Amino acid sequence: MEHVTRIVIIGGGPGGYEAALVAAQLGAQVTVVEQDGPGGACVLTDCVPSKTLIATSVRKQALLDASSLGVHYSGGADGDVGGVTADMPLVNKRVRELAQAQSGDVAARLAAEGVEVIRATGRLVDPQVVRAGDRTIRADVVIVATGAHPRVLPGAEPDGERILSWRQLYDLQELPEHLIVVGSGVTGAEFAGAYQSLGSEVTLVSSRDRMMPNEDADAAEVLEEVYRRRGMNVMGRSRAASVKRTDKGVVVTLEDGRTAEGTHCLMTVGMVPNTSGIGLEDNGVRLDRGGFIEVDKVSRTSAPGVYAAGDCTGVLMLASVAAMQGRIAVWHALGEAVQPMRLATVASTIFTDPEIAAVGVSQRQIEAGEIEANVVKLPLATNARAKMQGFNDGFVKLFCRPNTGIVLGGVVVAPRASELILAVSLAVQHRLTVDQFAHTFAVYPSLSGSITEAARRLMSPQTAGI
Ligand SMILES: Cc1cc2nc3c(=O)[nH]c(=O)nc-3n(C[C@H](O)[C@H](O)[C@H](O)COP(=O)(O)OP(=O)(O)OC[C@H]3O[C@@H](n4cnc5c(N)ncnc54)[C@H](O)[C@@H]3O)c2cc1C
Repeated sequence: MEHVTRIVIIGGGPGGYEAALVAAQLGAQVTVVEQDGPGGACVLTDCVPSKTLIATSVRKQALLDASSLGVHYSGGADGDVGGVTADMPLVNKRVRELAQAQSGDVAARLAAEGVEVIRATGRLVDPQVVRAGDRTIRADVVIVATGAHPRVLPGAEPDGERILSWRQLYDLQELPEHLIVVGSGVTGAEFAGAYQSLGSEVTLVSSRDRMMPNEDADAAEVLEEVYRRRGMNVMGRSRAASVKRTDKGVVVTLEDGRTAEGTHCLMTVGMVPNTSGIGLEDNGVRLDRGGFIEVDKVSRTSAPGVYAAGDCTGVLMLASVAAMQGRIAVWHALGEAVQPMRLATVASTIFTDPEIAAVGVSQRQIEAGEIEANVVKLPLATNARAKMQGFNDGFVKLFCRPNTGIVLGGVVVAPRASELILAVSLAVQHRLTVDQFAHTFAVYPSLSGSITEAARRLMSPQTAGI
């Protein structure tokens, strides 16, 4: 009788459920053990809810900006848009319902593919045995995809009312009057911008010189300028030491003794992997110093037959990367042809307004001499479509190899940059040259016209920097 491979996956986020779908399609018998709900934190509390909230904030910001295009509102003129408000109970209800519906879609898809889902906390009792509630399941292959949770700063513990983690935001019944966001990485920057557009006064507390210190410096600079212009108080070089409640709200005390007062505080100071207390190290699964599971490029851990995918590995904390790691684990485990993970081709977006999308190498790598590349940066302010639509902030940046002209990466800062970056991703993935890119038609007028224009400029090395 043919042996059917038995796969047990701990965690039902994108790392887990995408692995499950591929495994089921390849004929394996699959069980997903998930403690919260199909879709995991990605769908229920993190990526999906935040992007839903941001859809509202971007729409509201567009209304606020529309007066420059000649749109006025009844009861107001000359930019008086006082009538535009966000109905937060409704906004948050929509966010929560959409997340539940998305989780329902994931559940339906898993069921349709014959994947068993057990609602329980799973733990390894042996590299090939998983305990889930009162069930003990033997497996040929185990995939750990348990994700991560918000890091808590001692002295700034969330209380769910005034001091909040991003997972508690959607229970608020009103818009924070003055929101202090502690942490200016991607998550902090996204929420700070969103709440500002929704109508809160926002203070962003950043421990570093500038916000989003790990992202493209030019992009971060554009965003900081936009945020300040819209009225945000961006406090650089300000490390929070504690956050306490007051009669009226919260007070954030910085390490240098300064304080900032607001009505609410959102903590966005990183993620901690969900890897303790589930039998990993006891069964030979090696963790790094941060508690992340060590994996190779085909998602293998140090324990034979045990793979890991997603945020619990800390490789790149993105849903798309989690999903790809999960699929790669299955392909490898089932002996299918598999391409190891290539991080140099990963596209990502920061869903601020404007959005920041990037793929491939970074300017920092080029400036550090790790990679030799030519660079062109075109401001959107010179793009005809951007002018028509009233956008001045943003740019397109493209990197290519000096001699061959092979496209190595790019950065787009623009409304819907998340959609525009696909063209650059294709070029990077398929090693297209700037010459091939430049001969590709872009619509006139369009923002993507700036991408082909950047490629044209890179065809003549004298116009390219670095
Ligand atoms: C605010 C925010 C916004 C984001 N926005 C984006 C974005 O726009 N684009 C993007 O690509 N990425 C985004 N991310 C990152 C993205 O959410 C993660 O990379 C993604 O969720 C990782 O998927 P995962 O499968 O590893 O884990 P998760 O989605 O965290 O799922 C893991 C699941 O496993 C469960 N679990 C944990 N331990 C156990 C156990 N022992 N037994 C059973 N179940 C267990 C957890 O409860 C959870 O439900 C965002 C993250 C945050 C915080």
